Amino acid sequence: MLRVNEIKLPIDHPPQALEAALRARLGLEGAELVRFEVAKRAHDARRKTAILMVYNVDVEVTDEAAVLKRCKDDPKIGPTPDTRYRPVAQAPADLAERPLVIGAGPCGLFAGLILAEMGFKPIILERGKVVRERTKDTWGLWRRSELNPESNVQFGEGGAGTFSDGKLYSQIKDPRHLGRKVLTEFVQAGAPEEILTEAHPHIGTFRLVTMVESMRAKIEALGGEYQFQSRVTDLLVETAADGTRRVAGVRLHTGEEIAARHVVMALGHSSRDTFAMLLERGVFLEAKPFSLGFRIEHPQSWIDKARFGPFAGHKDLGAAAYSLSHHCSNGRTVYSFCMCPGGTVVAAASEPGRLVTNGMSQYSRNERNANAGIVVGVTPDKDYPGHPLAGVELQRRWEEAAFKAGGGTYAAPGQRVGDFLAGRPSQALGEVIPSYRPGVTPTDLSACLPDYAITAIREALPVFARQIAGFAADDAVLTGVETRTSSPVRITRGKDLQSLNTRGLFPAGEGAGYAGGILSAAVDGIKVAEAVALAITDH
Ligand code: FAD
Repeated sequence: MLRVNEIKLPIDHPPQALEAALRARLGLEGAELVRFEVAKRAHDARRKTAILMVYNVDVEVTDEAAVLKRCKDDPKIGPTPDTRYRPVAQAPADLAERPLVIGAGPCGLFAGLILAEMGFKPIILERGKVVRERTKDTWGLWRRSELNPESNVQFGEGGAGTFSDGKLYSQIKDPRHLGRKVLTEFVQAGAPEEILTEAHPHIGTFRLVTMVESMRAKIEALGGEYQFQSRVTDLLVETAADGTRRVAGVRLHTGEEIAARHVVMALGHSSRDTFAMLLERGVFLEAKPFSLGFRIEHPQSWIDKARFGPFAGHKDLGAAAYSLSHHCSNGRTVYSFCMCPGGTVVAAASEPGRLVTNGMSQYSRNERNANAGIVVGVTPDKDYPGHPLAGVELQRRWEEAAFKAGGGTYAAPGQRVGDFLAGRPSQALGEVIPSYRPGVTPTDLSACLPDYAITAIREALPVFARQIAGFAADDAVLTGVETRTSSPVRITRGKDLQSLNTRGLFPAGEGAGYAGGILSAAVDGIKVAEAVALAITDH
């Protein structure tokens, strides 16, 4: 097959236009074109009045060599890449020891799956509950203001992305097409097939729940094993005479010890007690940059109009997204984060007395509001120097401030953008009704983030309004705080993907600082599983 990239057609093109464009591009006549299929579909809305659909197409022709020769000057035409996944090792028949995977988020799930596919029979330890029970606990916070610190938006089967927009794209370099393996597994587990071809696919939260269950069944059928409500509270480490440290196993909160010489730590960014435990056990970890901010909400119709002009509401475009960034005069960068078209703002706390926002949507993305984090980058050197876990303390401080400002009931503090820009507390909310549950308390958000962040966001919002009309409208709503944008620590690893100072420990995914988002965390899980397999088979 040949891959032809970037065939651009007007959004309302007739179905046969794609074949005609393909034939013209490759100079094909009659039966020379055997068949074709769309490999990727995107839209280009830079010109609102002339939105384009952009296709990458795989095509079978009668004489590939002749076509390649004819099109040799077109860099967008070449052989279709082979994206099949190939395992790097196979477990020995007399497998003496099963690897452990800590965490059943996207990273742990894919580490578990790949290890299971290679015959290593991994044991997956997850502090939270199976996804259906976890869903009930998560709703407990949203509906009844009851937080379960072990079963919530951050903790439990499926990990942090289960109650999310399920956006499945990433900027990572992926020369081995591992992302394709992830998407293919997701489709087998129940995701819509279009995620394989859409440039910006998303799944929405309901489907993620069933997909996670389906992946569990597959891992178990391959010999893997899950243990839920099994919080790892200690790492067992042996130190050799030459000072080399090596993992010997883990201890659970029940006191049970599980021996293992290969442990994948796929903790996610919110497992603060486990970070502290690892530090205490002497595992090398360091503070890393992350971001702090608020969630902003606008009616989705404003965003659709701003992005798609006369094509707003077009069936092939769906709800519009945005991605914004501004470098402020105080040296800070403000950017939009985890934008959820047609979604809701969710209560994402995992610790009592602390409040965190995030966003999710359903597959249909047809809720009233668009939401996104509007966040400011923070760095250890400037903002939380001196201790590997100082970033965690910074997060906690502002999460506590938000909890207090919201009234101490897990209601989020909120403010109209007009009031926020004018520096006065909101007494009431306006036309835009915030979606956060259990509720929003109108207040002054400037008490909920450091001054430099408030100054930067005040500068950025009017700048963003130049790109999206209404972005800084008086009645747009901010709620806060957004602190779990990425991990505040890195559990640094070497080229062999093992901890810098503890052999057999494989830090992985978002919590270890090696991923940001569902797809990149899953891809990292695959890489780490391969590294474990190679270490066990001693390659
Ligand atoms: P996690 O998913 O956080 O999984 C870690 C798991 O480890 C958890 O289940 C946790 O319970 C478990 N664990 C932690 N400590 C222990 C322990 N000591 N013992 C046993 N188990 C433990 N990303 C996107 O790409 N697209 C989106 O649309 C999107 N939306 C999001 C919406 C929300 C509300 C949230 C919270 C996140 C969203 N994200 C999104 C981010 C995405 O969820 C994360 O990047 C991703 O889940 C990270 O995967 P992970 O496996 O590394 O960690």
